[in-house]
Amino acid sequence: MTTQIAVLPGDGIGPEITEQAERVLNSLGLDLSLVHANVGGAAYDSHGHPLPPETLELAKSSAAVLFGAVGDWKYDNLVRELRPEQAILGLRKALGLFANLRPAILYPQLANASTLKPEIVSGLDILILRELTGDIYFGQPRGVRVLEDGPFAGQKQGFDTMHYAESEVRRIAHVAFQAAQKRNKKLCSVDKANVLETSQFWRDIMIDVASEYPDVTLSHMYVDNAAMQLVRAPKEFDVIVTGNLFGDILSDEAAMLTGSIGMLPSASLNASNQGLYEPSHGSAPDIAGQNKANPLAMILSAAMLLRYSLNHDAHATRVENAVRTVLEQGLRTADIYEEGTQLVGTSEMGDAVLKALN
Ligand code: NAD
Repeated sequence: MTTQIAVLPGDGIGPEITEQAERVLNSLGLDLSLVHANVGGAAYDSHGHPLPPETLELAKSSAAVLFGAVGDWKYDNLVRELRPEQAILGLRKALGLFANLRPAILYPQLANASTLKPEIVSGLDILILRELTGDIYFGQPRGVRVLEDGPFAGQKQGFDTMHYAESEVRRIAHVAFQAAQKRNKKLCSVDKANVLETSQFWRDIMIDVASEYPDVTLSHMYVDNAAMQLVRAPKEFDVIVTGNLFGDILSDEAAMLTGSIGMLPSASLNASNQGLYEPSHGSAPDIAGQNKANPLAMILSAAMLLRYSLNHDAHATRVENAVRTVLEQGLRTADIYEEGTQLVGTSEMGDAVLKALN
């Protein structure tokens, strides 16, 4: 049966890096139908909206969405609802994407790109799983109110509400344990259970769900300690699962351990493993259309698509190994170039990955 994938290249370098990922997907001999639609600024230009109904329908009816990047300075003066970035929020909401998976991998060949000592980060391969739809970012009530009593009576006060429902924690826990099963079977749940009720509740549910995954070792860490351990000994981690707020911060910290934004893929999944796959970087308008962009984060996003939405683990590994091979061959786009390596453009990097695949 043909599997439909929605391909939304978007803006800036989006189209050129997406093209390389499509070439990779098309070369695997799978029965895939890659269907294109506009998104972001490109969709605003053609349809007057960053996420037109046709694009949304295509995404909903596809097994997965391969998403390039959106945004350009020229859209900065649009009202918020029409800005390119709204397309991502709209897709997350419509598809119910609650689990954000961000691997932080540092290939030994790129160890010098990190600001940390090579021995700390070389060979790093961790996965951060962030809950994406709950927590203090969406909790109600929120706002600014005038206090009626207490030591600050009469003053205005800004406030937000942190909460997690049991089903919200259970579903991200299952994604986390299953992701750990596909890796080294070590899961660290990060919270602030020494201070926050929401975190203690989160921890209790994690422990409960763990009984269904006896092959995975579950540990817990307070978020302040996790932030330290990520720079002290990041290779101690395998999979980290955490809430929306802590995940927002820790996933960026982990990304920076690798030092190379052009190498980092990401996935956002819903309960039926339908997912949106995109590089962690933006649309890089400064280098768009110049054949300079690194397509590897996008190609690695396609590998995640194969693994998590299509369950083609072996093909995913093949693609990841092809990326390793081109790095071993010394090929580098400008963002990861260092002396003694060979500078190539976006399409040449794509060619090399294809060659390594076959
Ligand atoms: P950016 O990630 O686009 O670029 C930051 C820097 O990294 C730039 O110098 C860029 O040239 C470089 N870079 C990024 N990806 C690269 C790649 N694959 N290869 C080589 N170099 C690469 O971030 P920014 O400049 O802050 O934002 C640019 C636009 O992207 C903005 O409109 C922003 O809103 C948007 N953005 C979109 C997303 C998304 O689509 N998910 C994420 C972040 C930013």
